[in-house]
Amino acid sequence: MRAVFDYLPPPGLAATEIPVGARVVVRVGRRRLVGLVCEAGVDACIEPARLRPALACLDSVPLIDAQTLALIRFAADYYHHPIGEVAMNALPGLLREDADLAAGEIAVWRLASGAGTAHPAVARAPRQRALLAHFEALGGGQAHGADALAGFGDGWRATLRQLLGKGLVLAERRSCLAPARGGGVWPTPHAAQAEAVEAIWPASGEMSFAAHLLEGVTGSGKTEVYLRLIERALAAGRQALVLVPEIGLTPQLLVRFRERFAVPIAALHSGLGDGERRCAWLTAARGEAPIVIGTRSAVFTPMPGLGLIVVDEEHDASFKQQENLRYHARDLAIWRGRAQGARVVLGSATPSLETLHHARAGRYGHQRLLTRAGAAKPPRLRLLDIRHKRLDAGLSAQLLAAVGERLAAGEQVLLFLNRRGFAPVLICQGCGWVARCPRCDTPMTYHAQARSLRCHHCDRETRLPEACPECGQVDPMPLGQGTERLETVLAARFPDAGVLRIDRDTTRRRGALAERLEAVHSGEYPLLVGTQMLTKGHHFPSVTLVGVIDADQGLYSVDYRAHERLAQLLVQVAGRAGREQQPGEVMIQTGQPEHPLLITLLRDGYPAAAELILGERRATGMPPYSHLALLRAEAPGEAAPVAFLAAAAMALRPLAARTVDLLGPVPAPMPRRAGRYRAQLLLRAGTRAPLHRLLQTGLSQLDALPEARRVRWSLDVDPVDL
Ligand code: ADP
Ligand code: ZN
Ligand code: ZN
Repeated sequence: MRAVFDYLPPPGLAATEIPVGARVVVRVGRRRLVGLVCEAGVDACIEPARLRPALACLDSVPLIDAQTLALIRFAADYYHHPIGEVAMNALPGLLREDADLAAGEIAVWRLASGAGTAHPAVARAPRQRALLAHFEALGGGQAHGADALAGFGDGWRATLRQLLGKGLVLAERRSCLAPARGGGVWPTPHAAQAEAVEAIWPASGEMSFAAHLLEGVTGSGKTEVYLRLIERALAAGRQALVLVPEIGLTPQLLVRFRERFAVPIAALHSGLGDGERRCAWLTAARGEAPIVIGTRSAVFTPMPGLGLIVVDEEHDASFKQQENLRYHARDLAIWRGRAQGARVVLGSATPSLETLHHARAGRYGHQRLLTRAGAAKPPRLRLLDIRHKRLDAGLSAQLLAAVGERLAAGEQVLLFLNRRGFAPVLICQGCGWVARCPRCDTPMTYHAQARSLRCHHCDRETRLPEACPECGQVDPMPLGQGTERLETVLAARFPDAGVLRIDRDTTRRRGALAERLEAVHSGEYPLLVGTQMLTKGHHFPSVTLVGVIDADQGLYSVDYRAHERLAQLLVQVAGRAGREQQPGEVMIQTGQPEHPLLITLLRDGYPAAAELILGERRATGMPPYSHLALLRAEAPGEAAPVAFLAAAAMALRPLAARTVDLLGPVPAPMPRRAGRYRAQLLLRAGTRAPLHRLLQTGLSQLDALPEARRVRWSLDVDPVDL
C-alpha cells in the first residue's frame, strides 16, 4: 500500500497529454477509483504486457500544481504514509470522486449594464446574440451558473468567453467566497508591531523563505501584525495562507479580515458543505482567492502565488492530525514556506518548545509583543493551596468567597475545569464498586442531565444504574467533579447569578458555541463554567476573575508533554480575562503549591517556565533534544500487540545500530480502549536522519511479519501523545 501504480494513458490520449497533477479514473479490481497522476511518460515498474489503460483523465490542466505535489511527496516520505492517501487527504471530498469539475462550477455570470441582443458589439455574431437572449430569458438582472447557461447548448463556454472578452458579460463568484468588503479602519501599528512587520516582511529586499516566531499574549496585537503582513504580501502580488486552530476560525475573525481587504477570501474549515469546500479550495488553487484562512488541512491547498503563511496559536494541539496521516500542519507549513519561498510566521502567547528551541538556535527570527495593545495590565496569578482544606464540589472557601465578591461587584467570573460531565466516577458506598467501561477498563463519567454513564474514550453510553450491580445498595454516589456538577453547585450557591456552561456537551449542535459566546459577551451570565474550549481564541473583557479548579491534573500526568501543556493552558486561561483599565485575577487551586513549575510560571512567566521544561527535556533526552517515532499496535487479544511490536523491535534492531533507541514494547497509557488492547514501541534518535533511514528500510519488513496479521498497526512520526 505504500506504492504508486502504473497505467497506460486512457484510450485516445498520449502520455504527454496527461498533465502531472491531474486526476484519472482507473479500475482496481472491480472498482472505479480516482487517482492522481504523479508522473507521466515514464517507464513502468511492471512488464508492459501487464499494464492496463486508465479509463479517463478528468482534468486537462493539473488540479494539483507541481509545488503542492512536492509537498504531498514530502509528507508521504516524512510520515512514511502511502502517497495516495496523502494526496486524497489534500483534496476536498468532492474532488476525490469521479465527478466532472464543471458539475457545480463555482463561477456565475451576469450581463453587464447596457448589454443585450441589440448591442452593436454583437451585431454580426449570431451565436453571441443568442447567448445574450438566453441570459435575458433566464432573468437578465441576475447572475447565472453553469447549470443554467449549459441549457444554451454545446459550445456555450466558448461563446461565453467571447462575450466576457467584449465586456458584455461579467464573471462573478458564487457565495462560498463572501463578498469582498474592505473599508475597515487600520489602527496605526505601535512600535513593537511595526518592528515585527518590518523584520518579517521588509518593505525592501527580495522575497525568500524565513520563519519567525511572533510571541505575544492575547490582545497584544498579533492579529494586527498578521493583517499588515498580508497587506504586504498582497501588494507584492502574492497569496497569503492563514492557518488557525479548529476552534479559532470564528465568524468574527473572518469579518475582521473581510473588513480590511477588498479581495476574495477563501475559508476552509470542517463546518463547510462539500460544495462550499470544493469551491473555496478551487478558488485558492486557481490563485483567485489571494487570502486563504483555514484549519489544519488547509496547509495542503495549492496556492500558486504563495508568499506568506501565518500559523496562529502555533502551539495548538489541533494542528496535529491524530489519525491516518498523522501530520503536523505547522511543520508542513515550514517545509512548504521553504519550498515555495514564502515567509512563515508562527504566532503564540505560549509557543511550543520546538518552536522556542528553533528560535533560540537562530533558525527562526523571534519577535515579541510584550505589552497588550492599549496598555492593559497583565492578569495577576495566585496559587490557592487546597491541601487539608474542605472543598465544596472541588471549590475552596477562598475561591468561593472571591467569586462572591466579584459577582456582588457586578463583574464576570470564569471557572475552568477540564473535565465535562457531572462526576468522573460513580461509586457504590456499600462495597466500593465503580462503574467502569467494559470496553476500556476506565471509570465511566456520570452525566446527570442525561441520567447516563458515558465513556469519554469510546463514547459508550449506558443508563444510570439505580442500584449497585454487585451488592444491590441503591443510589451509587458520584465522586469528583466535572463541569456539569460545578454548574449545578454554583447555581445553588449563587441563585441570583446566571451560570453558563461551555463544554463539548453544551455545544454539540452546530452554531451552539457561537450562541453561547454571544451570550457571554452580552453579559447575561455573570458566571461562566467551561473546559479547554474556553482557553482558545476568545477574549472575555468583562471577566475579572478566572478560577482554575484543578491544576494538579497536569502536574501528575505521565505524558512527557503534560508540563508544557499545563503551562500553556494556565497562561491561555489567564489571557481570557481583563480589559484595559481592569486587570484580571487568576486563582489556581493546587495541592502542590511548591511545585517548581507553578512557582516559576507565576513568578517569572511563560518564557521562564518554558526554559525550565526545556531543561527537563534535555535531561531526559526528549524532544526537542531528540526525535521520536511511535509504532502503535492494537488487537482484540491482549498478547498480539506486544508480540507484534516485539517482533518489530527484533526486525528493526539490526538497522537501528547505535543511532536509534528502541524503547518498549510497553502497553499504551490506556492499555485497552473500545475493546481493543493497545501497545507501543518508541523509536528515539538524537538526529532525524538515522531515524528516517531506519523507517525507510525497516517499515516495509513489518508487514511481512507473521505477527502483523493479527494486529492493526500504525506509525506516528513526531508523536505528541506518548
Ligand atoms: P492578538 O491577536 O494578539 O490577540 P489583536 O491583534 O487582536 O491581538 O489586538 C487586540 C485588540 O487591540 C484588537 O481589538 C485590536 O484591534 C487592537 N489593536 C491591536 N493593535 C492596535 C494598535 N496598534 N492600535 C490600536 N488598537 C490596536
Ligand atoms: Zn455495591
Ligand atoms: Zn469505553
